[in-house]
Amino acid sequence: MNLNNMTLETSYLSLDEEFYKLTDPQPLDEPYLISFNKNAAKLIDLDSSTEQDPRFVELLNGTFSPKGSHPFAMCYAGHQFGHYNPWLGDGRALNLGSTSGWNLQLKGSGDTHYSASADGRAAVRSSIREYLMSEAMHHLGIPTTRALGIIGSKSKIIRSKMENAAIVMRMSTSWVRFGTFEYFFHMGEHAKLEALAEYVISESYPHLKDDEDRFFKMFCEIVDRTASTVSKWQGVGFNHGVMNTDNMSIEGLTIDYGPFAMMDDFNYNYVCNQSDRVGRYSYGEQPNISYWNLTMLSIAFSKIVSKDRMEKKLEDYGAFIFPNAYVGVMREKMGLYIELDSDADLVEKIVVALHEAYVDHTLFFRILSRYDGDRSPLYDIAMDPVVLDNWLKLYDKRLLEESGSQQKRQELMLSTNPKYVLKNYMIQKAIVLAEAGDYSMVETLKHIAENPYAELPEYEHFSGDTPEEDKNIGLSCSS
Ligand code: AMP
Ligand code: MG
Repeated sequence: MNLNNMTLETSYLSLDEEFYKLTDPQPLDEPYLISFNKNAAKLIDLDSSTEQDPRFVELLNGTFSPKGSHPFAMCYAGHQFGHYNPWLGDGRALNLGSTSGWNLQLKGSGDTHYSASADGRAAVRSSIREYLMSEAMHHLGIPTTRALGIIGSKSKIIRSKMENAAIVMRMSTSWVRFGTFEYFFHMGEHAKLEALAEYVISESYPHLKDDEDRFFKMFCEIVDRTASTVSKWQGVGFNHGVMNTDNMSIEGLTIDYGPFAMMDDFNYNYVCNQSDRVGRYSYGEQPNISYWNLTMLSIAFSKIVSKDRMEKKLEDYGAFIFPNAYVGVMREKMGLYIELDSDADLVEKIVVALHEAYVDHTLFFRILSRYDGDRSPLYDIAMDPVVLDNWLKLYDKRLLEESGSQQKRQELMLSTNPKYVLKNYMIQKAIVLAEAGDYSMVETLKHIAENPYAELPEYEHFSGDTPEEDKNIGLSCSS
């Protein structure tokens, strides 16, 4: 497929008009290509030669419209930092339509019915962050939206300083959020809530289509997928930063990348979002918050599914640690094939040890992946090796329960524990260069993001401890 024969579908527009607002994109001045993502292009069968097609920039800038495209902004509500906000929606995103099951969306394409007083734009800085990180998450095996490309421009926007505006084309198998359901529940529009549920089943859970109990089963799958995704965040040290219910995907995808961070030194209470003063969305709170968000979703679902059944599902899953999902993720990180009940305790203890040892999260697990009984490489990277030593004694004991070889364990761990994650200081370097017109590091980081488990000798310097002065870069919601 190329841009000539690209045809989009807009099945969301078959829903009632309250679900969306048709809106044309507002082009940026003097747009130019920053990056094209060949891997994402493959997903929609788009020729890689499209990178050279000047209409690709026009597509992202909204001046070239593929056949069948009817740009629209989606309506939703959501709980923001615990408080219900009935008026959210795509304030700076426009959906162009879908192809091969992927919904294409422009982010930063101008204001919409849902922008309130904001400008509908996105800074180059935050667009590069989303573009790179969604790709990195995908290659780490974490469910996420993707991004097809990014354009820069001469248009200026005001944030904490004057910045250049960009547009990123995001792709997702669904853009429906918990907050989309909340909107119709709190508006008392229960027939529309049911229509939305049917839509989500057709788009995201088609195997449930003819099931009489489909709404309840869909709820259960949303719970399971959310638990699985958040467990993977915990495993890799990802802090989302703004887990409002409007940023929670109905498919359990990681969506709406804002002030996220991959942790540097492990800190259970780490808060990447400087605007989050009480740490509601700290790293350690993420499983609890996802549970709270699912509870808000269950309230919105209560008109179409029995409350008791949903409560039971949530309880069974465990309010705090999602034992099945999270311990499963950690077992793989520790190279354990056999499942023992006592593993939950080993996981709890490693979290405490990492927190107290002041050790780089990614580096610790990568070095642990080559563990052969010699503890010194691990002592070397920790500020407090004694607490690691105590945990390693338990780990040694636990390894005796395994029947596989050391080599098999190391293989599992080296393909589970990344050598490279995109830490904020790395992305920040790419942004500083990009703001001076040099986009080469965006491509470098994309390459690293695509190969998190490879050795990549030329990028070895990104695999170690974060330089002291670059640790825990503060980020705000401003983007
Ligand atoms: P977020 O939590 O960043 O995903 O966004 C919260 C809400 O604010 C969503 O409804 C966004 O569409 C909206 N929003 C964020 N930034 C802008 C902007 N620059 N212009 C218009 N709406 C925005
Ligand atoms: Mg959002």
